[in-house]
Amino acid sequence: MEYPGLIMIDASGFLQKKHPLDRYNELTEDVSHEVDHQWFYGTVGSDEYMEPWLDEGLTNFLENGVYDLTYTKSKAYCANLMHSKFYSRKNVKRANKILRENANAFINKNQKANYINYPVNNPPKGVDTEDMAYELGMDFPAVLKVAMGENKFFDALHDYYQTYYLKQATTQDFLNIIRKYDNSKKVNDVINKFIDPKYLSE
Ligand SMILES: [Zn+2]
Repeated sequence: MEYPGLIMIDASGFLQKKHPLDRYNELTEDVSHEVDHQWFYGTVGSDEYMEPWLDEGLTNFLENGVYDLTYTKSKAYCANLMHSKFYSRKNVKRANKILRENANAFINKNQKANYINYPVNNPPKGVDTEDMAYELGMDFPAVLKVAMGENKFFDALHDYYQTYYLKQATTQDFLNIIRKYDNSKKVNDVINKFIDPKYLSE
Protein backbone atom coordinates (compact mmCIF):
# COMPACT_ATOMS: atom_id res chain seq x y z
CA MET A 1 0.00 0.00 0.00
CA GLU A 2 1.29 3.45 -0.88
CA TYR A 3 1.36 6.71 1.03
CA PRO A 4 3.38 9.83 0.23
CA GLY A 5 6.88 9.06 1.53
CA LEU A 6 5.89 5.68 2.91
CA ILE A 7 5.09 2.26 1.48
CA MET A 8 3.90 -0.85 3.28
CA ILE A 9 4.50 -4.35 1.91
CA ASP A 10 3.39 -7.68 3.30
CA ALA A 11 6.42 -9.88 2.74
CA SER A 12 5.00 -13.07 4.28
CA GLY A 13 4.69 -14.69 0.83
CA PHE A 14 8.41 -14.26 0.36
CA LEU A 15 9.10 -16.51 3.32
CA GLN A 16 7.23 -19.44 1.79
CA LYS A 17 9.53 -22.15 0.51
CA LYS A 18 7.52 -23.03 -2.60
CA HIS A 19 8.36 -21.30 -5.89
CA PRO A 20 10.96 -18.92 -4.44
CA LEU A 21 11.56 -17.20 -7.78
CA ASP A 22 7.85 -16.44 -8.20
CA ARG A 23 7.65 -15.13 -4.65
CA TYR A 24 10.75 -13.03 -5.23
CA ASN A 25 9.22 -11.61 -8.41
CA GLU A 26 5.98 -10.78 -6.64
CA LEU A 27 7.83 -9.00 -3.87
CA THR A 28 10.08 -6.95 -6.15
CA GLU A 29 7.11 -6.04 -8.32
CA ASP A 30 5.08 -4.99 -5.29
CA VAL A 31 7.93 -2.88 -3.89
CA SER A 32 8.58 -1.41 -7.31
CA HIS A 33 4.88 -0.65 -7.81
CA GLU A 34 4.47 1.13 -4.49
CA VAL A 35 7.71 3.08 -4.93
CA ASP A 36 6.46 4.22 -8.35
CA HIS A 37 3.40 5.68 -6.67
CA GLN A 38 5.75 8.23 -5.13
CA TRP A 39 5.87 9.75 -8.62
CA PHE A 40 2.33 9.12 -9.79
CA TYR A 41 -0.21 10.17 -7.29
CA GLY A 42 2.45 11.02 -4.61
CA THR A 43 4.05 13.88 -6.58
CA VAL A 44 1.77 14.24 -9.59
CA GLY A 45 -1.69 14.00 -8.10
CA SER A 46 -4.71 12.65 -9.96
CA ASP A 47 -8.29 11.69 -9.24
CA GLU A 48 -7.97 8.04 -8.23
CA TYR A 49 -11.72 7.51 -8.34
CA MET A 50 -12.65 9.19 -11.61
CA GLU A 51 -9.46 8.34 -13.54
CA PRO A 52 -7.86 5.36 -11.77
CA TRP A 53 -5.73 4.45 -14.80
CA LEU A 54 -3.76 7.68 -14.49
CA ASP A 55 -1.87 6.63 -11.38
CA GLU A 56 -2.28 2.83 -11.43
CA GLY A 57 -1.57 2.39 -15.16
CA LEU A 58 1.51 4.62 -15.17
CA THR A 59 2.72 3.00 -11.96
CA ASN A 60 2.28 -0.50 -13.35
CA PHE A 61 4.07 0.54 -16.50
CA LEU A 62 7.03 1.90 -14.54
CA GLU A 63 7.44 -1.19 -12.35
CA ASN A 64 9.95 -2.71 -14.73
CA GLY A 65 11.91 0.50 -15.05
CA VAL A 66 12.46 0.97 -11.34
CA TYR A 67 13.75 -2.53 -10.78
CA ASP A 68 15.59 -2.58 -14.05
CA LEU A 69 13.69 -5.67 -15.06
CA THR A 70 14.01 -5.01 -18.75
CA TYR A 71 17.76 -5.15 -18.41
CA THR A 72 17.31 -7.37 -15.46
CA LYS A 73 20.60 -7.01 -13.61
CA SER A 74 19.08 -7.32 -10.16
CA LYS A 75 16.62 -9.99 -11.22
CA ALA A 76 19.19 -12.06 -13.05
CA TYR A 77 21.42 -11.91 -10.00
CA CYS A 78 18.72 -13.24 -7.70
CA ALA A 79 17.58 -15.79 -10.26
CA ASN A 80 21.16 -17.04 -10.45
CA LEU A 81 21.24 -17.43 -6.71
CA MET A 82 18.18 -19.63 -7.12
CA HIS A 83 19.84 -21.60 -9.93
CA SER A 84 17.46 -20.31 -12.57
CA LYS A 85 18.60 -19.16 -16.00
CA PHE A 86 15.24 -17.63 -16.79
CA TYR A 87 16.40 -14.00 -16.74
CA SER A 88 19.25 -14.44 -19.13
CA ARG A 89 20.05 -11.53 -21.42
CA LYS A 90 18.89 -13.65 -24.37
CA ASN A 91 15.48 -14.38 -22.83
CA VAL A 92 14.93 -10.77 -21.86
CA LYS A 93 15.87 -9.62 -25.36
CA ARG A 94 13.42 -12.15 -26.80
CA ALA A 95 10.64 -11.02 -24.43
CA ASN A 96 11.20 -7.36 -25.31
CA LYS A 97 11.09 -8.21 -29.01
CA ILE A 98 7.73 -9.97 -28.58
CA LEU A 99 6.37 -7.01 -26.61
CA ARG A 100 7.45 -4.62 -29.36
CA GLU A 101 5.93 -6.82 -32.06
CA ASN A 102 2.66 -7.05 -30.15
CA ALA A 103 2.56 -3.27 -29.70
CA ASN A 104 3.22 -2.74 -33.40
CA ALA A 105 0.54 -5.26 -34.34
CA PHE A 106 -1.86 -3.39 -32.07
CA ILE A 107 -0.90 -0.05 -33.65
CA ASN A 108 -1.19 -1.28 -37.23
CA LYS A 109 -4.27 -3.47 -37.01
CA ASN A 110 -7.73 -2.10 -36.85
CA GLN A 111 -8.21 -3.52 -33.38
CA LYS A 112 -11.14 -2.58 -31.23
CA ALA A 113 -10.76 0.07 -28.57
CA ASN A 114 -9.90 -0.80 -24.98
CA TYR A 115 -11.02 2.28 -23.11
CA ILE A 116 -9.23 2.97 -19.86
CA ASN A 117 -10.39 6.39 -18.70
CA TYR A 118 -13.61 5.36 -16.99
CA PRO A 119 -14.37 5.86 -13.29
CA VAL A 120 -13.91 3.08 -10.73
CA ASN A 121 -17.64 2.45 -10.37
CA ASN A 122 -18.36 2.36 -14.09
CA PRO A 123 -15.77 0.48 -16.17
CA PRO A 124 -16.52 -0.15 -19.88
CA LYS A 125 -18.93 -3.02 -20.48
CA GLY A 126 -17.33 -6.44 -20.08
CA VAL A 127 -14.15 -5.04 -18.50
CA ASP A 128 -13.18 -5.48 -14.88
CA THR A 129 -12.22 -2.22 -13.09
CA GLU A 130 -8.86 -3.66 -12.05
CA ASP A 131 -8.03 -4.80 -15.58
CA MET A 132 -9.02 -1.40 -16.91
CA ALA A 133 -6.92 0.63 -14.47
CA TYR A 134 -3.90 -1.64 -14.01
CA GLU A 135 -3.50 -3.85 -17.08
CA LEU A 136 -4.99 -1.82 -19.92
CA GLY A 137 -3.79 1.29 -18.09
CA MET A 138 -0.27 -0.09 -18.37
CA ASP A 139 -0.72 -1.10 -22.01
CA PHE A 140 -1.52 2.49 -23.03
CA PRO A 141 1.88 4.02 -22.09
CA ALA A 142 3.62 0.82 -23.27
CA VAL A 143 2.07 1.10 -26.75
CA LEU A 144 2.64 4.88 -26.80
CA LYS A 145 6.32 4.24 -26.08
CA VAL A 146 6.56 2.04 -29.18
CA ALA A 147 4.49 4.43 -31.34
CA MET A 148 6.51 7.52 -30.31
CA GLY A 149 9.90 5.91 -29.83
CA GLU A 150 11.55 5.71 -26.42
CA ASN A 151 13.26 9.12 -26.44
CA LYS A 152 10.21 11.14 -27.32
CA PHE A 153 8.01 9.15 -24.98
CA PHE A 154 10.27 9.59 -21.96
CA ASP A 155 10.82 13.29 -22.76
CA ALA A 156 7.04 13.67 -22.67
CA LEU A 157 6.76 11.71 -19.43
CA HIS A 158 9.43 13.90 -17.80
CA ASP A 159 7.60 16.99 -19.01
CA TYR A 160 4.32 15.66 -17.58
CA TYR A 161 6.02 15.05 -14.24
CA GLN A 162 7.66 18.48 -14.13
CA THR A 163 4.61 20.37 -15.35
CA TYR A 164 2.30 18.76 -12.80
CA TYR A 165 4.80 18.50 -9.95
CA LEU A 166 2.78 18.86 -6.73
CA LYS A 167 -0.33 19.61 -8.77
CA GLN A 168 -3.27 17.54 -9.89
CA ALA A 169 -3.30 16.28 -13.48
CA THR A 170 -6.08 14.81 -15.60
CA THR A 171 -6.08 12.44 -18.56
CA GLN A 172 -6.58 15.49 -20.78
CA ASP A 173 -3.41 17.07 -19.32
CA PHE A 174 -1.49 13.85 -20.01
CA LEU A 175 -2.72 13.77 -23.62
CA ASN A 176 -1.85 17.45 -24.17
CA ILE A 177 1.75 16.75 -23.16
CA ILE A 178 1.96 13.59 -25.30
CA ARG A 179 0.65 15.53 -28.32
CA LYS A 180 3.17 18.33 -27.67
CA TYR A 181 5.89 15.76 -28.42
CA ASP A 182 4.12 13.73 -31.07
CA ASN A 183 0.84 14.71 -32.68
CA SER A 184 1.13 12.21 -35.53
CA LYS A 185 -1.79 10.18 -36.84
CA LYS A 186 -0.12 7.07 -35.46
CA VAL A 187 -0.06 8.44 -31.91
CA ASN A 188 -3.58 9.84 -32.17
CA ASP A 189 -4.82 6.45 -33.39
CA VAL A 190 -3.32 4.87 -30.25
CA ILE A 191 -4.94 7.55 -28.07
CA ASN A 192 -8.30 6.94 -29.74
CA LYS A 193 -8.05 3.21 -29.02
CA PHE A 194 -7.55 3.76 -25.29
CA ILE A 195 -9.25 7.04 -24.45
CA ASP A 196 -12.98 7.59 -24.65
CA PRO A 197 -13.52 11.34 -25.23
CA LYS A 198 -16.86 11.02 -23.42
CA TYR A 199 -14.97 10.83 -20.09
CA LEU A 200 -12.41 13.54 -20.73
CA SER A 201 -12.69 16.58 -18.47
CA GLU A 202 -11.26 19.94 -19.48
ZN1 LIG B 1 -1.02 0.91 -7.24
